[in-house]
Amino acid sequence: MTSLPLSTDKRLGLAIDLDTCVGCHACAVSCKEWNSGGSGTPLADVGAYGAAPSGAWLNRVHTFEITPPVGAAEIVHFPKSCLHCDDAPCVTVCPTGASYKRGEDGIVLVDEALCIGCGLCAWACPYGAREMDPVEKVMKKCTLCVDRIYNQTIPEIDRVPACVRACPTGARHFGDFADPDSSVSKLSAARGGLALMPDLGTGPVNRYLPPRDTRRTQTATVDPPPPAETSATGFLGWLDAALERLG
Ligand code: SF4
Ligand code: SF4
Repeated sequence: MTSLPLSTDKRLGLAIDLDTCVGCHACAVSCKEWNSGGSGTPLADVGAYGAAPSGAWLNRVHTFEITPPVGAAEIVHFPKSCLHCDDAPCVTVCPTGASYKRGEDGIVLVDEALCIGCGLCAWACPYGAREMDPVEKVMKKCTLCVDRIYNQTIPEIDRVPACVRACPTGARHFGDFADPDSSVSKLSAARGGLALMPDLGTGPVNRYLPPRDTRRTQTATVDPPPPAETSATGFLGWLDAALERLG
């Protein structure tokens, strides 16, 4: 068992706009590139040009066709990475202390030198946000580009996670959710930012900004179909359906 800090000074995380994400995977590729050349071991690929390529990706984009309770089916692109949970079960389950959450900024990290590759953290994470490196046999995850955001040797504009810097539509936003006046806090409040599966009690920091109503209005049918068989409504109902398919 590894302890979590009682609280953190900051709660750094991402606000991801599902309205403007176009599913281009630039964030995932940029993440892979940056995290293959940084302080940790590279993110390995196995059989990259073969019939069954596999490898470690810290950010993955899932694309779904979802039928809302009212309106026509829509395509939603759903980028998924670590949500840097306040009560991260991946940390408390770790037997060696390799997984830990930083008190100063809330980032959840893995000390690769302490990781024994047991996979317990991946089992404990309900979001599938951990990645066992197939070559190094150590667990890896999103670090919010901790070797970038505090890096005084790169231009200030680049001191954000690589995924945020690469996104061509500006769908990804980085900042401190502990500060109600930060840009991400204000954006999330204005857009009704959603936590992912909050009922699990993990306290995810990241927020998803749901598609704007104007988008749905433009695609709504005159005769809405019967309500979907789900207890959740609106965008949460969409999300529930999407997560069932994340696997
Ligand atoms: Fe841990 Fe998963 Fe939460 Fe990230 S999303 S902090 S890996 S439980
Ligand atoms: Fe979506 Fe931006 Fe990632 Fe492209 S780079 S998939 S638009 S979040």
